[in-house]
Amino acid sequence: MFSERLKRLSPYVPGEQPQDKTYIKLNTNENPYPPSPEIRDLLRDFSIERLRLYPDPQSKVLCQTIAKAHNVDVEQVFVGNGSDEVLSFVFYAFFDSAMGKLLFPEFTYSFYPVYCDYYGIDYKKIQLNDDYSLSTEGFLNETSCGIIFPNPNAPTGILFPIKKIEQLMKKYPKDRVVVIDEAYIDFGGESAIGLISRFKNLLVARTYSKSMSLAGLRLGYAIGDEKLINALVAAKDSFNSYPVDTLTQKIGEVAIKDSAYYEKINGKIIKTREFLTSELKSLGWEVLPSTANFIFMRKKGLPGKEIYLTLKKNGLLVRYFDIDGIKDFVRITIGQQEDVETLLGKIKKLDTG
Ligand code: PMP
Repeated sequence: MFSERLKRLSPYVPGEQPQDKTYIKLNTNENPYPPSPEIRDLLRDFSIERLRLYPDPQSKVLCQTIAKAHNVDVEQVFVGNGSDEVLSFVFYAFFDSAMGKLLFPEFTYSFYPVYCDYYGIDYKKIQLNDDYSLSTEGFLNETSCGIIFPNPNAPTGILFPIKKIEQLMKKYPKDRVVVIDEAYIDFGGESAIGLISRFKNLLVARTYSKSMSLAGLRLGYAIGDEKLINALVAAKDSFNSYPVDTLTQKIGEVAIKDSAYYEKINGKIIKTREFLTSELKSLGWEVLPSTANFIFMRKKGLPGKEIYLTLKKNGLLVRYFDIDGIKDFVRITIGQQEDVETLLGKIKKLDTG
């Protein structure tokens, strides 16, 4: 009844979305502020008659709007149903074990090995430095079919500086694709989009889920050379021609234009992150330097699972990874200032037992 392919899968496990009670949810890196208020006006004026027809399969106007926002050509933009789906097309289109293994960091977004299993791509995890930062040498010492990593990395939150990306691109073979997953770049990092005109094998993946506060919408995109984008379109059109529905296309246009609003809310998140980091440090916690909307932290003598369970009992959801090497950490999404103050109160109690 079930294919061998299916039996081999080990699916991604998303963070909890509990329905039983109300938690302060700091576990899935959602934005704590509402999406652009312009979306409300759009929804009020949206004619349901438009839903009678299929969406534009190319999402042309949305791609044009995204292109304008990033100062690139429309031919350099690809959109999909969340960046997870964009990444799925990326893995299908560019990574092939016949050319070598796919490389990604040892601690990173746990969907990458899942896609590898799904598409039968061999991979190798590249060790991080002792301070959990990414090592360029690790990526260059192997024969590989490509590289992918989030920048800043998840769950560490650590940024790989743009200068180092440039150095990596200069040394890496031009016929292999490097994908920078910029899910969290708007919380203080510098985007690699500025490098795509120089490096035709560089692809940048983005999402509306985090900095644009639209995780429930399911919209993501990729920016890269036209040839890479055409390959993604071929993969998409062999799977689902209409991954982005009409309403999502319209909301995506309105949201990305409202950069003033998003700079404001993301600025608040950055401020709260810095506040939380310095408070935790003064309480003796080790907090990795984050440019994301989450922090990765630990304290000697407190296993990650225990921190997670105690906070959950106290109505706060955070993320803990049952993975050797990071079991003593928890990842905490930056919430609104009052959420973070509640969290700090509970953490102080955790310390004193
Ligand atoms: N990349 C990274 C590094 C992520 O953490 C996430 C969120 N889980 C995604 C991509 C996927 O985001 P989405 O599918 O919501 O666009």
